[in-house]
Amino acid sequence: MKYCLDCDWHLNAAEEPSRRNRSRAAIDHHVDTGHAIDSTESIVRPTAPAIPGAVLVRDLIPSND
Ligand SMILES: [Zn+2]
Repeated sequence: MKYCLDCDWHLNAAEEPSRRNRSRAAIDHHVDTGHAIDSTESIVRPTAPAIPGAVLVRDLIPSND
């Protein structure tokens, strides 16, 4: 699932079967709100993120470098 570190937004495979669409929705949420999105393969939200969200958000967005 993907989930927001700043609010209750989340999206899992039950809600959106397409992994591509989940990534798009996560990016849209980040763009719309400036919130940090994290992701995990587990179905439930982990209790404490170990890595700053900004690093993970950058990984979600395609780079042109
Ligand atoms: Zn959020």
